[in-house]
Amino acid sequence: MGIHVTPANVWIDPSQPVDVALVTHGHADHARGGHGRTVATPETLAIMQVRYGVEIGSATHATPVDYGETLTLTGGVKATFIPAGHVLGSAQILLEHAGERVIVTGDYKRRPDPTCAAFAVTPCDVFITEATFGLPVFRHPPIAGEMNRLLAARANDAGRCVLVGAYALGKAQRVIAELRRAGYTDTIWLHGAMERMCRLYEEHGIDLGDLRPVAGVPRAALENAIVVCPPSALNDRWSRRLPDPVTAMASGWMRVRQRARQRNVELPLVISDHADWDELTATIAEVDPVETWVTHGREEALLRWCALTQRRARALALTGFEDEDD
Ligand SMILES: [Zn+2]
Ligand SMILES: [Zn+2]
Repeated sequence: MGIHVTPANVWIDPSQPVDVALVTHGHADHARGGHGRTVATPETLAIMQVRYGVEIGSATHATPVDYGETLTLTGGVKATFIPAGHVLGSAQILLEHAGERVIVTGDYKRRPDPTCAAFAVTPCDVFITEATFGLPVFRHPPIAGEMNRLLAARANDAGRCVLVGAYALGKAQRVIAELRRAGYTDTIWLHGAMERMCRLYEEHGIDLGDLRPVAGVPRAALENAIVVCPPSALNDRWSRRLPDPVTAMASGWMRVRQRARQRNVELPLVISDHADWDELTATIAEVDPVETWVTHGREEALLRWCALTQRRARALALTGFEDEDD
């Protein structure tokens, strides 16, 4: 159901409608519509407006909070939104009350991402960290190498397009921005479901280069092209009108062969917007809190690592978080 901040009677990332919700970022497992009031960064509110119809216009429904700005809630609880490096607008939430500092990370990563502000290490007493990839086996490779594999697939398969499955919020824009960084200047074609969110990123100053909708474009124009679609469209009827697509998918789960096979992915790209094992442990070490609470994923290995490094830690069981994003 999310995290209840008792002295302020507000919820962080609640899965059901509540009076006041503090939302870390726009992914569906964290952001829902229907709250009395939603407190989030302006970018997250803009995303929620597009996805869930959250009204930004009226102050009674939505309160935008910039990074670094501190809001005082009921009961004297102070809330500050700090960049989490996960997707556009994503935030860790620092809560201060009665001399204690608690950080709820939401989802985060430490790798540079041209589409969002970088995670900021912030001292606190209690650090509530996600653990989506909280196993030593999860070590994400450098993204430049994954981009090279994608560009090589496009160059090698004459006449075939490369169809990249990527989540519509965050992953798609990051893949596009990284392709641009790698020097790819051709048109990148979009499935209809990706357009609105790409435009929203552009409106927030993220340059994605020449993007065009794939709808109505003759098949021949898509030979040797790169097309980006939601993962659900990779193998559905829609993709059959593309010229013999090489199916790729950008996800941290592509590290697991079985997941790639399940989705019939020919070119698994290990690209994640979550911290991998090394990023999780390095972040706990850097933040160096009095206590770490591990949630939202695989808690056990991280708890063991904390014990081995003499850090106080415990698991915080939360339900309702299924990775929409990875
Ligand atoms: Zn997320
Ligand atoms: Zn999440």
